[in-house]
Amino acid sequence: MDTTKPAEEPARSLNFIEQIVEEDNRTGKWDGRVHTRFPPEPNGYLHIGHAKSICLNFGLAEKYGGKCNLRFDDTNPSKEEVEYVESIQEDVRWLGFTWEERLFYASDYFEQLYQWAVQLIRAGQAYVCDLSGDEVREHRGTLTSPGRNSPYRDRTVEENLDLFARMKAGEFPDGSRTLRAKVDMASPNLNMRDPVLYRILRASHHRTGDTWCIYPMYDYTHGESDSIERITHSICTLEFENHRPLYDWFLDQLGIYHPQQIEFARLNLTYTVMSKRRLLELVKEKHVSGWDDPRMPTICGLRRRGYTPASIRSFCARIGVAKFDSVIDMAVLENAVREDLNRTAPRVLAVLRPLKVIIDNYPADQIDELDAVNNPEDVAAGTRKVPFSRELYIEQDDFREDPPKDYFRLAPGREVRLRYAYLVTCTSVVKDPKTGEVVELHCTYDPATRGGNTPDGRKVKGTIHWVSARESLPVELRLYDHLFGVADPDDVPKGADWKSNMNPKSLEVLRAGRVEPSLATAQAGDRYQFERQGYFCVDVKDSKPGALVFNRTVSLKDTWAKIEKSQGKKK
Ligand code: ATP
Ligand code: MG
Repeated sequence: MDTTKPAEEPARSLNFIEQIVEEDNRTGKWDGRVHTRFPPEPNGYLHIGHAKSICLNFGLAEKYGGKCNLRFDDTNPSKEEVEYVESIQEDVRWLGFTWEERLFYASDYFEQLYQWAVQLIRAGQAYVCDLSGDEVREHRGTLTSPGRNSPYRDRTVEENLDLFARMKAGEFPDGSRTLRAKVDMASPNLNMRDPVLYRILRASHHRTGDTWCIYPMYDYTHGESDSIERITHSICTLEFENHRPLYDWFLDQLGIYHPQQIEFARLNLTYTVMSKRRLLELVKEKHVSGWDDPRMPTICGLRRRGYTPASIRSFCARIGVAKFDSVIDMAVLENAVREDLNRTAPRVLAVLRPLKVIIDNYPADQIDELDAVNNPEDVAAGTRKVPFSRELYIEQDDFREDPPKDYFRLAPGREVRLRYAYLVTCTSVVKDPKTGEVVELHCTYDPATRGGNTPDGRKVKGTIHWVSARESLPVELRLYDHLFGVADPDDVPKGADWKSNMNPKSLEVLRAGRVEPSLATAQAGDRYQFERQGYFCVDVKDSKPGALVFNRTVSLKDTWAKIEKSQGKKK
């Protein structure tokens, strides 16, 4: 597990939730306690939006010496699976947070929730309703018209107690009855128009099995679970703002411990989608290879792509916490991992699209072991040896037969520096007689320039990377681009599907890559900077010793710096 903590974040002012917490601590509202929770529904894998919530909830507890629970909101057995329960724990841990012994399940509270429902019935605050789902909806009214009371609203307490007990006992078919709160069918807030508390559903639950055939609804379960766990600040996303009156209503009617619900803006990112329903659709329809496809915005996808926990935490710190919705540019996330890997990733030489180079004046049987710097950002990382020989590979892109102005790399008659090695001059070009494609270059090297120096002081502008043809290792390289071709996947012509915006070029596989021999011992998940190319990591699923597969985490090109620059210009 990677437990590196992010570099010191610059001091920043308190976000609005921290302000609330500090004010509460000052007034002693919760006796100085800070107790939050992260409450995922186990119906999919966690995504980067969840990471924002995780960093916020666990981060607050950490900052104020409090606690944060992990609680599965598992009230919907038809969509929930053990696979998700396990992946969620793995992802939260990987991000660097711990819930210690406080792992909870809403399903553990089913008995208590049932007892509280009975209490509400006794108090005349809940009733069994025989309307169908469609009829309930139809009675609810709209934003502009009030709802109508259910004809079952005035059942006696005795009748309600009897019917609810029989619902629980399995006497009625699925969907035939519900238990509803008796609030106000004329409320301007639709959530307050006698919301459903319980439904009849014969589905096996991943924890309670077939013990229950009635299941509590989310709104009824959530606040009560917060209360049981004595949460202080119940933090959720903005779409729950108009559920808050209901959250408060339940707790007030029951007269139990009452946490404070606080809403913040969910994370939205450009060029991707961020709802579990949609991510599941991409997986099921095989638009991606799985939840952990490195193009997915899931935590496991980002992990497989090569993101570090520290980079995700620093991204979450950077974007902050606000009360209004916004969309963050994907470049901000990419920049976070670029910054982190720039500090930590060892540099190596790798050629993505090889072009053979023969150094005609270099002896065929000779190998020169040259010193290469492992990480210019970290002197302690030291140096390693890379073998130089008569036959090399360079990047196809680093040669132009007819170089444009400002192109300082290799060209006929042109001299360049081979990184850590020698200066070489291109003397001739071999082409495929049929296609005219350049297949091989011949060069001469200057033995006096070992290490890349020019004793005579001559200026050579271009430096390119290379690997020895014989000693290098063949590898597969997977280059990723945005999953969607447009910033907002929902931006489609009327009637078209959001998936029509998927980027057909989001994955490019290069099967002829070559890397320096020091990578022979690379382990699954290891991260590197391929000099001049980007950050890559060894794929955890498909890479094998002798047949390495690398994922490109992010290119070196700093699109963020460009954005900042152009924004700076605008100002
Ligand atoms: P999705 O809409 O992606 O299916 P969800 O809200 O249904 O997500 P939950 O499992 O209920 O998923 O979410 C667990 C917690 O994570 C909740 O507190 C929720 O508010 C928070 N969360 C979910 N998506 C985001 C997001 N994009 N940004 C910030 N927090 C989020
Ligand atoms: Mg949800």
